Amino acid sequence: MAEFSLIARIAARAGRRDDVVLGIGDDAALLRVPAGRLLVAAQDTLNSGVHFPLDTPAAAIGWKALAVNLSDLAAMAAEPAWCLLSLSLPADDAGWVDGFMDGFTALAAQHRVALVGGDTTRGPLSVSIAVHGFVAPGDALCRRGAQVGDEIWITGTPGDAAAALQRRQVGQPVEPALQQRLDRPQPRVAAGRELRGLASACIDVSDGVLADLGHLLEASGIGAELDLARLPVSTALARTVDGPARWELQLAGGDDYELCFTAPAARKADVQAALQRADTPGAVIGRIVAGSGCAVRQPDGRPWQPPRRGYQHFDPALVASDRDRPSA
Ligand code: ADP
Ligand code: MG
Repeated sequence: MAEFSLIARIAARAGRRDDVVLGIGDDAALLRVPAGRLLVAAQDTLNSGVHFPLDTPAAAIGWKALAVNLSDLAAMAAEPAWCLLSLSLPADDAGWVDGFMDGFTALAAQHRVALVGGDTTRGPLSVSIAVHGFVAPGDALCRRGAQVGDEIWITGTPGDAAAALQRRQVGQPVEPALQQRLDRPQPRVAAGRELRGLASACIDVSDGVLADLGHLLEASGIGAELDLARLPVSTALARTVDGPARWELQLAGGDDYELCFTAPAARKADVQAALQRADTPGAVIGRIVAGSGCAVRQPDGRPWQPPRRGYQHFDPALVASDRDRPSA
């Protein structure tokens, strides 16, 4: 019975949309895709101890599980519509589920996302969400498409979330502004929509700017140069760390959920206007060049070799350190 009372608590807060013909409660949902649009689908999972520390508040997990998925739709310039939620819970803890739904529904309401189904099982704490949205054919932004002469843009200020995580891992106090960026990332849905027809390629930054820009470069078959002097820095991060330690957090830290995109240099004013309409800050951090890979320049012009590029599951070093950690 407990499973069904948990599902009822969740279903009560699913949110409504006219295009949901049949939502939670049957064997599957029935959904209406607008005529002439493509269905855009993405899925991301958060595992306890891997994607969030064990003591993360339930509401922060609820917010973030949806945010990381909406970030993938944002990177494709899609308009979010529906999601499915698969919850694996160690116990039937109604208080935890209510807290989780507080965070989840706060973000779902902002983007008019309806929860239309899912699955609830017992097991180690894990949250997997599948999101669906729409985009007109030809409007989707992809990882491929960057051209020599394009500028490379980033929204927001990368590095904040990674700084928060790093400081709490070594037991240092974390500024609330940085903690907020780790727990409640704002998916850049409006910016992605406004960049339709402007950006030549786009990706969302989840594993670190260098790692994710690397995917965009590979898909586009092209290279890049980044200028550290042009990296936007939040005041909270600037107060916390400087120099190469900051560069590493900003370029290889991960958990940013910003958009990294390319656009022709001649369209700079149009990109600025688009970002302004989306109320989203953005900055040019480099350029696309012939070749492959990404060169990084220090403020004095010398090349900088980052000690790492970003986060990767099954990285042998990470797997070894997990083994030494009894709680992992
Ligand atoms: P089935 O056995 O047919 O898979 P379930 O008992 O798992 O059905 O689920 C019953 C209904 O509740 C389904 O409509 C399912 O989509 C929905 N549901 C179950 N878990 C969740 C959840 N965590 N979030 C949203 N909907 C859920
Ligand atoms: Mg089921």
